[in-house]
Amino acid sequence: MKKLLSVVIPVYNEAANLSWHHEKICKHLSGIGMRHEIIYVDDGSSDDSISRIKKIASKDNATRYAKLSRNFGKEAATSAGLKLSKGDAVLIIDADGQHPIEMLPAFLKKWGDGAEVVVGVRTANNKEGVIKRYGSKLFYFILDKLTIGEIIPSSTDFRLIDRKVVDEFNSLTERNRITRGLIDWLGFNRDYVMFWAHARHAGNATYSYKKLLKLAL
Ligand code: UDP
Ligand code: MG
Repeated sequence: MKKLLSVVIPVYNEAANLSWHHEKICKHLSGIGMRHEIIYVDDGSSDDSISRIKKIASKDNATRYAKLSRNFGKEAATSAGLKLSKGDAVLIIDADGQHPIEMLPAFLKKWGDGAEVVVGVRTANNKEGVIKRYGSKLFYFILDKLTIGEIIPSSTDFRLIDRKVVDEFNSLTERNRITRGLIDWLGFNRDYVMFWAHARHAGNATYSYKKLLKLAL
């Protein structure tokens, strides 16, 4: 039987992006020679996201979803998606269209060549404000000094991870978590794919400076 790819998508107030993005993802999944499942995790959205997700799932047998009881943040939503996933590999991707699903073949190629974690590394996002850009640089600098192992600046949650790594991740009990930090901490064979982030399809990023600072701390 063909291998299964899970696509995990954390969602917070993305009603205006969901159908457009789902179609785009499906288009790019159709040619990869794998079976797939798409898992949306609604992170307590206050807009119409959950009804859009339900509508998508009712039309697409390969789509499942979970709804968190309130807004817990992207890290918790992603973790929930990883718990629900069954794939031989899992792709984590944002719901707003910023992560280019068109790069999927590059991730799969590296996985096929033996990488167990394929990390998407973002090259400069010029539309980002100065505070966010330099704040992010400072965050990675400090994180690198504090942690064991190599931290690649601008590495993102846009990543493909092997089932072996997902199972280990699922057994971790940290509650205050940064998904990508924990995945990096686990080790395994890593490789990287550089990508340019698209602009958000619709809406605004919901991570406020306050939320980002809390995550960084
Ligand atoms: N997201 C989430 N919970 C939150 C905030 C964001 O699940 O509390 C999702 C959001 O819908 C998107 C991803 O996490 O799929 C990244 O969020 P956003 O685009 O706001 O942040 P960025 O990383 O682009 O600054
Ligand atoms: Mg975004």
